[in-house]
Amino acid sequence: MSISKRFAELAHIRDALGAAHADPSRVVMEELLSATEAMIAGKRTILAGTNNYLGLTFEKGILDAACDALHEQGSGTTGSRMANGSFSSHVALEQEFADFYDVPAAMIFSTGYQANLGLLMGLVRSGDKVILDAHSHASIYDGCRISGADFFTFRHNDAEDLRKRLRRLGADAEGALVITEGLYSMLGDIAPLAELCAVAKEFGAYFMVDEAHSLGVYGEHGRGVTEAAGILDQVDFITGTFSKSLGSLGGYCVSRHEELNLLRYGSRPYIFTASSSPANIAAAHWALKAIRNRPELKEKLWANVERLYSGLEGLGCKLASPPSPVVAVRVESHDEAARIWNELLASGVYVNLVVPPASPDGASLLRCSMSAGHSFEQIDAIVAAFAEANASAAFVAARCGGQD
Ligand code: PMP
Repeated sequence: MSISKRFAELAHIRDALGAAHADPSRVVMEELLSATEAMIAGKRTILAGTNNYLGLTFEKGILDAACDALHEQGSGTTGSRMANGSFSSHVALEQEFADFYDVPAAMIFSTGYQANLGLLMGLVRSGDKVILDAHSHASIYDGCRISGADFFTFRHNDAEDLRKRLRRLGADAEGALVITEGLYSMLGDIAPLAELCAVAKEFGAYFMVDEAHSLGVYGEHGRGVTEAAGILDQVDFITGTFSKSLGSLGGYCVSRHEELNLLRYGSRPYIFTASSSPANIAAAHWALKAIRNRPELKEKLWANVERLYSGLEGLGCKLASPPSPVVAVRVESHDEAARIWNELLASGVYVNLVVPPASPDGASLLRCSMSAGHSFEQIDAIVAAFAEANASAAFVAARCGGQD
């Protein structure tokens, strides 16, 4: 092992970002002003890269719920549920998730990353077959790797390619696990879940969906793309996170198989880590109820999406997918993306800079995520900042015409 070689590789990545003055990991939010504004480098900045889809993080109700839990249950759990026991708030939140999805089993984890790791490490093992969408989140890949299962990818959102892969597995297709997401977080495209699920079921495979970015955002009751696709009763496992629409920290898995609960006895990411803190649990619980009781949040979010999308489209930007809470602008190179990202920041607009290898398909993206908390004035300011950056960069329709 050469530690110095590895450090040199990492320093190279850091320096490449630094050379373009575009290292998002060094952005510091000095003061949070609201769910959609912060002080960055002394400047009042609109946050358009947060995943705070419902904009709940500063609502009085969520803050009160978290503060009450802090005072009533303390600042931390200081141990895992397996070794140290559960707080009643963990159990109550699991029940709320089970009710919300109308399923018999729900488990919560300390993060969404661990929910995927926990499900996969608890469920599949060496000799099992897993087929996942090529654009799957790192936590899904990592869960597959660590589980020791044989895993293969199918072409992103391509049901025919999934069918081909399953066919190639022969008799092993029966009982294989197929994994996809609802809304993909980088390009902002949604999976054709009804088609993918039908193919999986045709071969007797299990079907798992990560709804991290789609909870509270899609479906009549906010249950995600799975609900919008009308297949909630067929999906075997749904995972997700508290760190986006729910404005907290933690993860969950729900299932129509009551046996999911047995994972508590064999899932290392569930067993060997401390359970979520009372404040996080209380905030997530409050926000899940808000999804159930306040459909107007979702409506406001979608009105904001339409406004940003049509504004950027009007500038001639090349948008990576049809309208969704993730509006990603494609640009032609890493350098161009870095330069525009800096200009946006200088104009008081923070978006996500996404460049290879973190991006799918080698794309360079300026990723905006919309929030129900944005005002139309803020959205117009975001569009104006893009316009300004475009003008000075000749980043115009000639190079960025239309949508894929
Ligand atoms: N799944 C997906 C699809 C995600 O995008 C993320 C986070 N970006 C996670 C899982 C992990 O969630 P968490 O931040 O709660 O660890």
